[in-house]
Amino acid sequence: MCATRACTPNLWGMVYLDHAATTPMRQCAIDAWVEHAGVLNAGSQHAAGRQANAVLADARERIASALGADPVEVVFTGSGTEANNIGVRGLWSASGGGRVVSTPIEHPAVLEVVKSLGQTEWLPVGRDGVVSDLSALDTPAAVAAVMWANNETGAIQPVREAVSRAGAAGTPVHVDAVQAVGHIPVHFHELGAATLAASAHKFGGPRGTGILLARRSPAPQPVILGGGQERGIRSGTVDVASVAATAAALEEAVAEMGQEQQRVAGLRDAVIAGVKEAVPEVIVAKHEPCLPGHAHFMFPGANADALIMLLDAQGIQVSAGSACASGVLRMSHVLEAMGYSEREAMGALRVTVGRTNTSEDVEKFLAAIPEVVERARAAGAL
Ligand code: PLP
Repeated sequence: MCATRACTPNLWGMVYLDHAATTPMRQCAIDAWVEHAGVLNAGSQHAAGRQANAVLADARERIASALGADPVEVVFTGSGTEANNIGVRGLWSASGGGRVVSTPIEHPAVLEVVKSLGQTEWLPVGRDGVVSDLSALDTPAAVAAVMWANNETGAIQPVREAVSRAGAAGTPVHVDAVQAVGHIPVHFHELGAATLAASAHKFGGPRGTGILLARRSPAPQPVILGGGQERGIRSGTVDVASVAATAAALEEAVAEMGQEQQRVAGLRDAVIAGVKEAVPEVIVAKHEPCLPGHAHFMFPGANADALIMLLDAQGIQVSAGSACASGVLRMSHVLEAMGYSEREAMGALRVTVGRTNTSEDVEKFLAAIPEVVERARAAGAL
């Protein structure tokens, strides 16, 4: 039994195929968290503060090195959502406000911020879930926000080209890399974005810890005000134990990335091939390049709620890829932007493979899916 399974009882006997929603903490992250759980306030001047600050500085350096950034550019936040809010709104404020360019397939953590700023020009998205025309970036804007990889489909976006075209127009770019960091190579300086968001719980770190990479200039304005921690960009006492756990998780994720990418993509491809064979009328929204663990299906005539509950009853955990806080399933804004009908999109299922999965998990999922789809369709037809 691997260490991760031993210390994550929620996986006992379960086939967990929802790693894009969150992935279990790595053992190295749990160990780092426990080791530093007693660490005090890194902002204090006394010995306890200096000790906490040393742990914080070490984590900052290791995260910077793993992501191709300088330590001073690493700003810790309370979530990926917060990092995105600061990046988008903060850069917009630093520019003095004005026109925004973004994509209609952003995660709500970006989409809702962009909508609140007004004057947005949306980049078009093709049926494959990829931004298809970047020309709106050639006109200067206060900020542009483009995600690295989509959380529902896994489609990797032309983010380098987007940053370079926006840069030529003098527009600072925020990149939501929450699904990318720890899964595919990310190098902040090579990308050239002004800010980039990541989230520890997507790569085996703790939930509730985000990372914002922010260049010295243009630096985002803060969205909350307070004691001026984290370069004044994110006030609030830093959770040093969680940050140390994040550094440990990220280093391990990056170290095993090449090997894990291949293994996980192999399992994911087996899921796709098996579903296509078992349910020939399935729609597979897969674009290359794609994140290694993502598989996205639409089962027209079935309802995602029913699919999820029927699979859950068999100990198999997946998601619709789009959920709202009230628990009421709505058509995914991502699939809508890709041009799918409501009937197709309401039967969407996101299966995301991760490091705890084995081929046995794939077999269990594939054994369950034909009957689950049939029953979900029958329930939908009532
Ligand atoms: N951005 C993307 C692409 C995501 O997938 C998520 C989480 O699912 C977020 C942002 C929000 O991150 P967090 O859960 O850390 O707030």
